[in-house]
Amino acid sequence: NSPKPSREVKSTCPYCGVGCNIYLGVRGNEITGVRADPDNKVNKGNLCVKGRFGYKFIDHPDRLTLPLIKKNGEFEEVNWDEALDFIAQNLEKYKGDTFAAISSARCTNEDNYALQKFTRVVMGTNNVDNCARSCHAPSVAGLARSMGSGAMSNSIDEIPDADCLFIIGTNATASYPVIGMRMIEAAKKGKKLIVADPREIQLSKYADVFLKHNPGTDVALLMGMMRVIIDEGLYNSSFVDERTENFDEFKKSLEEFDLESVEEITGVDKEKIREAAKLYASTKPASILYSLGITEHSHGTDNVFALSNLALLTGNIGKPSTGVNPIRGQNNVQGSCDMGCLPDSYPGYQKVDDPEVYKKFEEMWGCELDKSVGLKMPFVIGASSLGTVKALYIMGENPVLSEPDSSSIIRSLENLDFLIVQDIFMTETARMADVVLPAASYAEKDGTFTNAERRIQRVRKAIEPVGESKADWEITCEIAKKMGAEGFEFKDASSIVDELASVAPIFGGIAYSRIEEEGIQWPCIDEKDQGTPILHVEKFATESGKGKFIPLHYRPPAELPDEEYPLLLTTGRSIYHYHTTTMTGAADGLVELYGDDPVEINPEDAEELGLENGDIVKVTSRRGEVKTRVEVTDMSPKGVVFMTFHFGETPTNVLTSPAMDPISNTPEFKVCAVKVEKE
Ligand code: SF4
Repeated sequence: NSPKPSREVKSTCPYCGVGCNIYLGVRGNEITGVRADPDNKVNKGNLCVKGRFGYKFIDHPDRLTLPLIKKNGEFEEVNWDEALDFIAQNLEKYKGDTFAAISSARCTNEDNYALQKFTRVVMGTNNVDNCARSCHAPSVAGLARSMGSGAMSNSIDEIPDADCLFIIGTNATASYPVIGMRMIEAAKKGKKLIVADPREIQLSKYADVFLKHNPGTDVALLMGMMRVIIDEGLYNSSFVDERTENFDEFKKSLEEFDLESVEEITGVDKEKIREAAKLYASTKPASILYSLGITEHSHGTDNVFALSNLALLTGNIGKPSTGVNPIRGQNNVQGSCDMGCLPDSYPGYQKVDDPEVYKKFEEMWGCELDKSVGLKMPFVIGASSLGTVKALYIMGENPVLSEPDSSSIIRSLENLDFLIVQDIFMTETARMADVVLPAASYAEKDGTFTNAERRIQRVRKAIEPVGESKADWEITCEIAKKMGAEGFEFKDASSIVDELASVAPIFGGIAYSRIEEEGIQWPCIDEKDQGTPILHVEKFATESGKGKFIPLHYRPPAELPDEEYPLLLTTGRSIYHYHTTTMTGAADGLVELYGDDPVEINPEDAEELGLENGDIVKVTSRRGEVKTRVEVTDMSPKGVVFMTFHFGETPTNVLTSPAMDPISNTPEFKVCAVKVEKE
């Protein structure tokens, strides 16, 4: 029933790391619809259901329109002056390490840049992190160590031209549907697909080899494959000799991964593992694509190391349609890390404890800066919280639903002295705040998102913000100015990118004038540089210029089923929703298509428990319980149940484990032990 648009504004989809290019239809101050940009090489005229129909939240009546301050336990609408004064007075008391900020992949690069600068310059701490801590931090840590860059090595457009795609730990057709479509396109062209996933997913139907391994056994599976590749003489010895280091030590660590042991750990027939190894090693070019099924484990960084070992071993890196490609889930996961919303890095991955780096930033920003690495998110809130942070500024995140063991998240938010939440709706987390600030949506502000392939693309203001909401970066800068800080007088979003280009060499050639038509993939070091579609072509970005093999040992997940909690819960996403449904839950149509979150259970388990489709059950872990309905499906293997984490009504993360990867501190969302009982 939307009116016909009177004009169109080109922008970027706000929902996933594909970064589809869209046209927003506009009439008056209303978004009337979304269509794909048919000429763009990222999405080639395609959109998924979220991108096409998920815009209705923009003018939803529940949008926040004015700042809110909690007075005597109730929120009261106030004007911006009062809100900013209130925040400035309170934050003055928490300068230094009692303050922390959490930023969001839902926000633009400019929003993220402003928040990290505020945290460092105004609050004097490196306690700034972003939601990638809970998803792709193992990619950043793992690939940075082995190859020198934590980003996707190749481009989305190269996917259908790989002769072999190794797709592991990613339900791409649900989470990144347009990339999932490119994978199916490859299969239909006769390209080989190896799919590894504990569940049967849509892509497994197209697989030449489907490896249905036990959850959390990726290191064993991958090391077993590499042992076959070496034993059968299928590795690329000239690539290994010329472009890598540490091969002998890595090779020694393969000794524990004989195929009999690997079969026992993974539950996959050893001949199937052999078949997959030979197919990947002998079909070139071969590309590895993965996502949170690899990273959200207590050994997530080891999983990433295993994938980079595999690419190095076969020389499948630095060439078209090869590489190790972590597909980012949310629209700007790449960008929120790139912008320096990380406790150890300034924008462009420059280390906060490197004297050359911090001196440069002190000179550019005109102040003394904290020289020590800040706290990662799990040490600010949740089961591992140190309790040292007393004032927290959350921009665009909803950790009450999105983080593991959510009861412990709620407890640590309750223990804060002062909580600011900036969002577009009153989320579960915002309800706990002392002050809530109304942010503009992506359609109401200018900016950029960086998609999974490192492409920085324009987001354009199509309509005026609802009520008195403002772009996140504007709000952050106003707080900074209210607190007397200098360096936050950005006249518009593009001037933030100009500052970024001047402080971070990998973005040196980025400017709005250069990305109006299509984005640029970083590194882009100066105005003549056209960007970098493929990383590691001549050398790796490591100190030695070589790719580094990492020796590995198998470690099981932190919490496995036992007598009391006999089933393994793994979590994921639905194609219809995004994150904690802050946006898609307010978009007509998407809720009708998928409005609640069942627990998916294998028919044999259902029979043993006397359960049928639609029965209401209690799912219980050591941390809490959730009531939901049963969906009996053989997509879930016996012994494994599945839930998404989207809905506040069925808060799955009450159940999940706070166990963390020791390197990246990413939680193990993919494995915990539960029991399921009929209500
Ligand atoms: Fe494209 Fe992802 Fe948006 Fe879907 S959600 S339209 S795949 S960017």
